Amino acid sequence: MRNLMESMNIKKKSKKKKKVASFLGEDIIAGIDQILKKQNGTVWKQSTGFAPSGFHKCDRYLVYRLFGYQKESKFSARTHRIFDNGHYTHDRLCDYFDRMGVLVEVEREFWTVDPPIHGFVDAVLMINGNEVPVELKSISEFGFKKWKDLNSHDPKHYTQLQLYLWALDLPVGILLYENKNNQALLKFETKRDDAHIEEVLDSFRKAYNVFQDGNLPERPFEKDSKECSNCDAKIYCWADSRVGVPML
Ligand code: SF4
Repeated sequence: MRNLMESMNIKKKSKKKKKVASFLGEDIIAGIDQILKKQNGTVWKQSTGFAPSGFHKCDRYLVYRLFGYQKESKFSARTHRIFDNGHYTHDRLCDYFDRMGVLVEVEREFWTVDPPIHGFVDAVLMINGNEVPVELKSISEFGFKKWKDLNSHDPKHYTQLQLYLWALDLPVGILLYENKNNQALLKFETKRDDAHIEEVLDSFRKAYNVFQDGNLPERPFEKDSKECSNCDAKIYCWADSRVGVPML
């Protein structure tokens, strides 16, 4: 073969990749990473109510949010870009709703009293003369395929939407997923589920009672657990000498 190629003057293609030269003396990717990483750090975080996404979080964390705690964020620059991409996806989808003539409001803010919940509904649409809250999520190809195959949705997103229905006193909402890889869309229409809403409200009320008593829930996880490792209150929580009370 070699002789045949040589005799035919055919040169083998080099498998070595050519390096892309940089002529500018500035690494633009390092520059982007640098400005995004500046968003990390320690800030005092305190809320006056529970977030609709909080039901699936640690009770101790929810109560720290009410008392306030030193939040440590150490996200990679790439994670910041993923967050930003999610925000821009919301803007783009709301722009489509606007052009369809169905958009009533973006980021509708609400407060409730018992229990105190503070949230923002991604979009409120007008469909057949009725207001319909919409929760928008940009998700991975893996997640998109999973929920499509199961013909179901993430329980956390379902809970969020149910709290919007309760807070806005509406009967039906929409959960809209967009695949981050290819922008395919997946829609779930959801009726108000009062039994689930009561379960969530009850859980928030118990945590709120602990807060009002000046206590904390005890830690439900081990220090090296996945939950604590992903918690931005971890350093604060595990340095706190208060054991806390059990959540019944
Ligand atoms: S570090 Fe762990 S126990 Fe403490 S608040 Fe976070 S998840 Fe809960």
